Amino acid sequence: MKKIRTVRGDISASELGFTYSHEHLWTNPPASQKDRDLELTDYEASVSELWRFKRAGGNALVDATTLDYGRDASKLLRMSIETDVHVIATSGFNKHVYFPKWVEALTVEEITQKLVRDVTIGMDGTDAKAGFLKAGSWNQLIHPLEEKVTRAVALAHKETGAPIWMHTEAGTMGLELLDILESEGVDLTKVGIGHSDRNADPYYHLKLAERGAYVQFDGTSKIKYHPDSVRVTLIKNMISHGFTEQLLISADMGRQEYLHAYGGGPGFEYILKKFIPRLMDEEAATQDDIDTIFVKNPARWLAEF
Ligand SMILES: [Zn+2]
Repeated sequence: MKKIRTVRGDISASELGFTYSHEHLWTNPPASQKDRDLELTDYEASVSELWRFKRAGGNALVDATTLDYGRDASKLLRMSIETDVHVIATSGFNKHVYFPKWVEALTVEEITQKLVRDVTIGMDGTDAKAGFLKAGSWNQLIHPLEEKVTRAVALAHKETGAPIWMHTEAGTMGLELLDILESEGVDLTKVGIGHSDRNADPYYHLKLAERGAYVQFDGTSKIKYHPDSVRVTLIKNMISHGFTEQLLISADMGRQEYLHAYGGGPGFEYILKKFIPRLMDEEAATQDDIDTIFVKNPARWLAEF
């Protein structure tokens, strides 16, 4: 049986439990990002938000903070040990505006080896290993450097088995990112396409799913993009077309203003306490569907080691 690689070590898929598949516990965007609400660097605040998640019924959390976005494996490890919540960390990149200079300077193979090291040896000078690989696109285009790191992610995946998750700006370019991964020989059933609900187009979601990829809706509660009624409809679309097993749901609360412990809201409790009850109330999903989306799918996606 393949295992899931958490910051505390490898676990069996059955140990994962209820999982948020795209969140952030610790971020420190580069100085070029002037909006510092995106910075989550208060250890006590972040760990208390994680406690809230656990008390609401959470057991595992996927932290999508990349090496160009202020990832700190020592903090993730400490939070996971303190709360006994499984934390799965990533290696890879956000969008090109955050890339360090060396992305341009190094070859695809050299970048690949950096990613492989994070997955097999440890991240940020610790022995906490990355459990998945990340790259992504810009809005309506894939920048040449984004294509470069996407190819490095594909190669590192083939070398280590680590599953893949892709950032898409405003939910665009998911199919084109799959094309690049496929051209490198990646099995698309190992890939998740994030932020897909930002592009609230049910046809597009079915096309992603038909390629075999996981379709992730991670904007839950973000009314500034769409009210949750839109997400409920999109979830119904995926389930009614037989793609329940390729659906991942999370809330990507990578801002102080989203987290209770940083003085914002609705916080990590939201999906467990408000959104899932709503899905059931509107008969968009059964308890079986909820178990599939939040327990079985994350475990199947992540168990590659
Ligand atoms: Zn994120």
